[in-house]
Amino acid sequence: MVDLTLAKISEEIADCHRCGLFKTANRSVPGEGSPNAEVMFIGEGPGYFEDLQGRPFVGQAGKLLDKLLQSIKLPREEVFIGNIVKHRPPENRDPLPEEIKACEQYLDDQIRIINPKIIVTLGRFSMNKFLPGEYISNVHGQSRYVDFGGKRYIIIPMYHPAAALRNGAIMNQLVLDFQKISSFLEDQPRPVEKEQKQLSLIN
Ligand code: URA
Repeated sequence: MVDLTLAKISEEIADCHRCGLFKTANRSVPGEGSPNAEVMFIGEGPGYFEDLQGRPFVGQAGKLLDKLLQSIKLPREEVFIGNIVKHRPPENRDPLPEEIKACEQYLDDQIRIINPKIIVTLGRFSMNKFLPGEYISNVHGQSRYVDFGGKRYIIIPMYHPAAALRNGAIMNQLVLDFQKISSFLEDQPRPVEKEQKQLSLIN
């Protein structure tokens, strides 16, 4: 797995039959952005427009995400935007546990390759990947260190932009939570491998 690239992962996703979602989807949506992104956003799964275009967050929720990024002067091309599942669930239903599991390795590999300083989860499905059992209403906007794949990442759970479009109070929270990204970016180094690094020094 060492020589995987983001492009190779996208190719694999395009041919993926690990769950049934490919059967009803028009296109795969592997995610997009900079391989050197310091911030990685993880949503739930492609919706109608994402499925047609093969790109993440290009519908109404995506337009809001673009505005939020502009509000903190973070160009979309400098971040990476991905999803928990890479094919659209029919009628935008919630992804099933077995679909999430089947898709997991792709996202894990994307995280490992990008090695972001901050992972912002958008909505409960991506939050659950790192903070199982938490409620967004309790933890949104709070940063947490989470050990994942041998490294320690900063996770900031946030409401999904689609939820903000339906509810003004959530919109206000999301706007405020987004402002915190900038200060974290200034303060934090990239994650380094923990135990492995110490072991190789000993050897
Ligand atoms: N909602 C998501 O969770 N992901 C997308 O890519 C678009 C909308």
